Amino acid sequence: MVSDHSMRQQFHFLKSDFWNRYSSRGPANNPLFAGLIYLCSFFIVIYITGYELKLLDTQRIFFNAIKEGIDYEALRDVRVDEELLRKADHRVDAVLKQNEILHNHPYINRIGYITLAMLISDYNPVALGQIDNVTFLRGINKVSKTQIFQEMYGYYDAILSDLRYFPVPKIDSEEMDVRFGDTWYALREYGGKRRHEGTDIMACNNERGYFPVVSMTDGVVEKLGWLEKGGNRIGIRSKSGGYFYYAHLDSYAPGLSAGDEVIAGELIGFMGDSGYGSEGTIGKFDVHLHVGIYVRSDNGDFSVNPYWILKILERNRINYGI
Ligand SMILES: [Zn+2]
Repeated sequence: MVSDHSMRQQFHFLKSDFWNRYSSRGPANNPLFAGLIYLCSFFIVIYITGYELKLLDTQRIFFNAIKEGIDYEALRDVRVDEELLRKADHRVDAVLKQNEILHNHPYINRIGYITLAMLISDYNPVALGQIDNVTFLRGINKVSKTQIFQEMYGYYDAILSDLRYFPVPKIDSEEMDVRFGDTWYALREYGGKRRHEGTDIMACNNERGYFPVVSMTDGVVEKLGWLEKGGNRIGIRSKSGGYFYYAHLDSYAPGLSAGDEVIAGELIGFMGDSGYGSEGTIGKFDVHLHVGIYVRSDNGDFSVNPYWILKILERNRINYGI
């Protein structure tokens, strides 16, 4: 057993050893020791200054983004990808783990993160790095009460919150499949020069009535019937307010009519080539499903680019075994 006395001796020895080795006059007067302290202080000051500058910069960006108002054209191009969703979920998890009390916060969630990321990145979040915990929390506190943030939050909520399945199932036993690209705002001629406000999912076999079409979301069938440009079309309003529009169908699911509730993944019709004429017109273009997505605003519904949403949903396909 070590007595108090011997511990004191040991301590005294260590103390004097340190003393002798580094200084005869005390550590504060030793140039090496003092240098180290100055260096540490210097880095701490640099770190704190850098951090504060970063926060100030973030605030400046928020302020500018809000001052300029919503850039609707940029917002409509969506540009939300899987990577951004992953970053959002990761950050929200990290913040909620540290702050249990924020669990019921209306904007500390995936959509809140995305809205903030859009404001910071000028609607181009693809190149944006991870937003850290402090910036996320400060950002939400700063901007979430503004009308611009809340309006944007409403759009992203309507576009993203109810998504479940890619609208065309994978047919197990067949090589045949579908393909699509980003044709947002491509020029269209029928019915006067206009821009393409949707995404076309092309049937590789070009066979009408072959591919089933399912609802991407839960919702209510708001419209079902013929449109000159859309042919046989179905419009489904989801719970969060998004309007999901499926056009050029060959036929509707048996018994489906306006006012019906549907669940995500439910069959709503079959892919075709109807449209560009009076009711019943077919064969004016290749077989495809035109997908449109619309959100409500004070000035009526407006379309957004479904390409990014379809890319996210592409991994989430129902299998149709034949
Ligand atoms: Zn189209």
